[in-house]
Amino acid sequence: MSKFERYGLGILKGMTVTIRQLLLRHPTVVQYPEQRLNTSRRIRGNELIWSRERCTGCATCAKACPQGAIEIVTSSNTNNNKYEVETYRVDTGYCIQCGLCVEACPYDALFLGSSYERAKYRRGDIVQSDDALLESPERPASGYYHPRLAEKMPEQTLLIDKITEKR
Ligand code: SF4
Ligand code: SF4
Repeated sequence: MSKFERYGLGILKGMTVTIRQLLLRHPTVVQYPEQRLNTSRRIRGNELIWSRERCTGCATCAKACPQGAIEIVTSSNTNNNKYEVETYRVDTGYCIQCGLCVEACPYDALFLGSSYERAKYRRGDIVQSDDALLESPERPASGYYHPRLAEKMPEQTLLIDKITEKR
């Protein structure tokens, strides 16, 4: 067999493998970002969700943070003898998603977020404060440290599940 013939045979074998993969095997990836898999219910996303209603301004979360990423400015309300939270600010650039602040909050006012797509072009934009920290359809809370919340969330989908389903 000539060198040229052996070379042609290799291409043919390669094309056979490619065509077999193309036509007979189910896809093992999703078309991100149009298609997405459900993340873990307890994902530690790269943001915090804060509840203005529940927060008392006690600053326990800020003291628990090993990164010093949380800043809280409060004033005392002499009418009802309570703190008023004037500013609640998180520098997500310093946050390592350890969840210690969420675990430390005695009033269930803090959650980790489910999002993992918070890249920004400017450093200042990753500092989030007040209304930008509230929960919304675009900023769903994670079930991390909140098992009752996690129970209501859709189950995580894995690529291996998708493959198993289709076979
Ligand atoms: S998750 Fe950890 S690093 Fe991030 S703000 Fe909370 S305590 Fe700080
Ligand atoms: S620990 Fe909870 S209640 Fe206290 S300031 Fe932080 S978020 Fe608010």
